[in-house]
Amino acid sequence: MSQLEKSPELNEIVGTRGPGTGADWLARYSSSLLGVFGTPQRVLVRGAGCLVWDADGKEYLDLLGGIAVNALGHAHPFVTSVISSQLATLGHVSNFFTSPTQIALAEKLLDITKAPAGSKVFFANSGTEAVEAAFKLARRNTGTGTEKVRTKIIALEGAFHGRTMGALALTAKEAYRAPFAPLPAGVVHIPFGDIDALRAVVDETTAAVFLEPIQGEAGVRPLPAGYLQAARQATSAAGALLILDEVQTGIGRTGKWLASEDAGIVPDAVTLAKGLGGGFPIGALVTYGPDVSALLSAGQHGTTFGGNPVATAAALATLHVLENQQVLAHVREVGEHLRSGLAGIDGVTAVRGEGLLVGFDLDADVAPAVVTAGLDAGFIVNSPGPRTIRLAPPLILTIQQTDRFLAALPALLTTAKDAR
Ligand SMILES: *Cc1c(COP(=O)(O)O)cnc(C)c1O
Repeated sequence: MSQLEKSPELNEIVGTRGPGTGADWLARYSSSLLGVFGTPQRVLVRGAGCLVWDADGKEYLDLLGGIAVNALGHAHPFVTSVISSQLATLGHVSNFFTSPTQIALAEKLLDITKAPAGSKVFFANSGTEAVEAAFKLARRNTGTGTEKVRTKIIALEGAFHGRTMGALALTAKEAYRAPFAPLPAGVVHIPFGDIDALRAVVDETTAAVFLEPIQGEAGVRPLPAGYLQAARQATSAAGALLILDEVQTGIGRTGKWLASEDAGIVPDAVTLAKGLGGGFPIGALVTYGPDVSALLSAGQHGTTFGGNPVATAAALATLHVLENQQVLAHVREVGEHLRSGLAGIDGVTAVRGEGLLVGFDLDADVAPAVVTAGLDAGFIVNSPGPRTIRLAPPLILTIQQTDRFLAALPALLTTAKDAR
């Protein structure tokens, strides 16, 4: 430990305990932070791998990974040293300039997304910003002639694409949308997974169709087989863009670089974020091919922080580990083990997902109580619905850690039901 790391000033800022208990911190939270997130479940002070600790010293197995963000767990040594080293070398430059890590990451993303020649990357800082860039891309798909004929954008019921105004217009949930009307116009939501409904609505006035290969916030709901292919066919025929939101499903989450890669289609654009930076904030829009990439030209979009040296170095470090330590194969193996284990548990009525994006349904509306029981027992899980649990753990979760959760789950279900 260096002199600086022992300094009281530094410890006051990043000290692993801080001066208060969880209850003390939460009292300060409620009088200082905007109430949009409700009351946080715990005050977390430290993490290592798949484990985190709260301000009261309690340990948790993190099966949510900051909602599919902490791909390599907490405080991954390689990611941490790359970030520190980049920050100590060059931290921020603005987009009047570029930097080697930005260019190298763009090239790497074009490679792993198998984007054709002429494809390009735009960097943002979050998922909603990647979607916002995609929304603007869609608006630039104006069609030919002087009249702007392509005014319609299609998204699915159950969709979650983010919370800024453009992304919110694509997000389906009425409770998120209604307080902020009017939203950007032209978005039409169609029934989830219904190929005929899609074919009926996509026409020459359609600018784009936005799809999540697996709807995460809706409880880990994969599109039915053949849907992506049908969407590609319908959008190509109509001259509309097919935009895949892989903010949650991308970058190894499903045991593949992209959840959509087995569909055998080439989309027009893909959004990425959550797991990309291994915990560091970064988002990206990949535009496929020269024509789509030319839809946004100089001055039509921008960001101050997007693509900065530290964020892009964090992503390069994350991709390096995912690739060199065969993490994607590990994700497929542990994911299968987890899903088959869940399927055998009494009270679990359905198991969905791919790799380490897993949702399961319960035989009663006790999912929020399972979250609480999980916390008390030292497990972090999430309930996207009244009877649905979502797991999106670090991609380095071990079989042993998976078994620890599977062994504990029956008791968590009992506790949750007793709490009714
Ligand atoms: C989380 C998420 C977003 C929004 O990402 P933020 O970083 O929270 O803005 C967008 N699309 C999908 C599919 C997501 O899961």
